[in-house]
Amino acid sequence: MIDQATIDRIMDTADIVEVVEDFVSLKKRGVNYLGLCPFHNEKTPSFTVSPGKQIFKCFGCGKGGSPVNFIMEHEHLSFVDALKYLAKKYHIEIQEKDETPEDIAQRNQRESLLIVSNYAKDYFANTLFNDNEGRTVGLAYFRERGFRDDIIKKFELGFNPGNKDTFTQAALRNGYKMEFLEGTGLSIKRDDWVRDRFAGRVVFPFHNLAGRVIAFGGRILKTDPKAAKYLNSPESEIYHKSKVLYGIYFAKNAISRSDKCYLVEGYTDVLSFHQSGIENVVASSGTSLTADQIRLIKRFTPNITIIYDGDKAGIKASLRGIDMVLEEGVNVKVVPLPDGEDPDSFARSMSSSELLEYISQNEIDFIRFKTQILLNETENDPVTRARVINDIVRSIAVIPDNITRSVYIKECSKMLDVAENLLYTEVRKIKFKLTEDQVVKEKREELRQAARDKENAQLESTVIKPGINPCEIEEKALLRVLIRYFGNDLFTVVDEKSHEERIVKVGEYILSEIEADNLNSVNPVVYKIIEEFKEHQFEEFFDPQRYFAQHADSEVNSMVSGLLVDKHIESVIWRKNGAYVEDEDEVLFTIVPRLIEEYKLRHVKLMISEIMKKIGSVKSSDNLDEIFELQRIITKLKKVEKELSKKLGKRAITS
Ligand SMILES: [Zn+2]
Repeated sequence: MIDQATIDRIMDTADIVEVVEDFVSLKKRGVNYLGLCPFHNEKTPSFTVSPGKQIFKCFGCGKGGSPVNFIMEHEHLSFVDALKYLAKKYHIEIQEKDETPEDIAQRNQRESLLIVSNYAKDYFANTLFNDNEGRTVGLAYFRERGFRDDIIKKFELGFNPGNKDTFTQAALRNGYKMEFLEGTGLSIKRDDWVRDRFAGRVVFPFHNLAGRVIAFGGRILKTDPKAAKYLNSPESEIYHKSKVLYGIYFAKNAISRSDKCYLVEGYTDVLSFHQSGIENVVASSGTSLTADQIRLIKRFTPNITIIYDGDKAGIKASLRGIDMVLEEGVNVKVVPLPDGEDPDSFARSMSSSELLEYISQNEIDFIRFKTQILLNETENDPVTRARVINDIVRSIAVIPDNITRSVYIKECSKMLDVAENLLYTEVRKIKFKLTEDQVVKEKREELRQAARDKENAQLESTVIKPGINPCEIEEKALLRVLIRYFGNDLFTVVDEKSHEERIVKVGEYILSEIEADNLNSVNPVVYKIIEEFKEHQFEEFFDPQRYFAQHADSEVNSMVSGLLVDKHIESVIWRKNGAYVEDEDEVLFTIVPRLIEEYKLRHVKLMISEIMKKIGSVKSSDNLDEIFELQRIITKLKKVEKELSKKLGKRAITS
């Protein structure tokens, strides 16, 4: 807790140019400064810093705000931690209120767990350096492993005394509650006894992105066949092991800067890399890599290089998880180390430039790596070979980017000695199967989220220019399917209340989507057709093909009959959904949601460009409030755009 006077002082002292300049190189332009935005990729600078107003703003991605906002955004910190960061930069002493046990009890559960973890971290670190047992057992161990004191201190390593409950008793004496000691897993309590989970172990704190300690890993030092060599904190409200990467807090800036992340296996691998000066490194520590961990890395870079020790079994085991990584659209490379080396020993055997040199010369693209390893095992047995080909095709099929995929197909065709078009066919088959599974799964989820879509719809109903119709292709494609397949079954949903299965028809789905998001056409004929659909959709024998073909308005009926025979629109739908599909009506469950999403995406893109134009027309420094408001809308729209693009990308069957 920081008192208001200190907050004011920090806000008054922090200078936007000085704060930003620590991360972005700025050039003076008139009264303002200009640089390349650190929050989005750009080649021409649109990131502006105004020393007069003490704010930054980016006209590319819309981010903007005070020095505190900049630090929160750039360093991924909470408001309070950003204030602390600035206080440190400007040597402002923070008057934090001393916390009594009563204060702690008042805070919410999560905060209490974090506070207890922080206390434990300090206790363990203090024990390591200042307690006799800590020094002779714990510190001696780290030093023997070759870790320098600055690295030990940076990672806040520590030692938990060997007696059964020394730490727990100390924590209780200091007013920390058993409830939270148990909640973090630091203490284990049974009816008549209490134990320290990490008794007799050196401990490695796990930091979250903001640098707060959320869990610990402990390594035993005595030889005890009954005890696990490594032990981690159990899952808790603050620690979800599948979402955490060891070392991410100390690596994030280096990962952003180098646009690359090294992934190693253990804590000590991370420490050794840092010690040799390479900081863009994290460890998945024990668990096999999860999708959440990949997404965490992806916030900073799409380039991941996995460094394995030379042991073959380890490599094969890790191959399994990686298809999931490819699915996230990241570039995976692999560096196998020489036999008998692990990242830890290897990093310590050479200088950082030698290590980087080795990595860059030995890193292999993952698909190539997998192909090589698997091929070596087949020994020309045709059955195993077929299985290997299938396995590799599976890895290629999950890659979202078309170009990358075709590069791999070309390459693997050579390595596997299989015709390229055969691989293409196999990839397509698998992709179609994946899409099918996914669409069915996503459908249920999507219908539940209709409420969230409504909020976006309010935004979407803002601006659309009259005159030309920029959504024409998407609208016509959608209208064609709506008229032709109005009464066809689309998919089955389970009613949330009655738990009964219900079939959703094509017409019902399209019209409800259009209505929920308030997507109105600027073309009066299309508008009229949709309105009449809404009016008649619940009539028992409503047949739109007949209804519109006999329509009194000649514009309506010529558009509808035109649509039904329009080869161009038909080919647009088909091109997007795979030419090998025999009948359109068999893949409606894929085509229809996709057409809806494309239509929505087009609308969102339009709105973004409209607002961008508006921002451009605002006289720059006079109407900052208006600009900020418009940027806020853009940020929100971009989020919607990104979600839609992601969905569409994942679903693409062919290019
Ligand atoms: Zn930007």
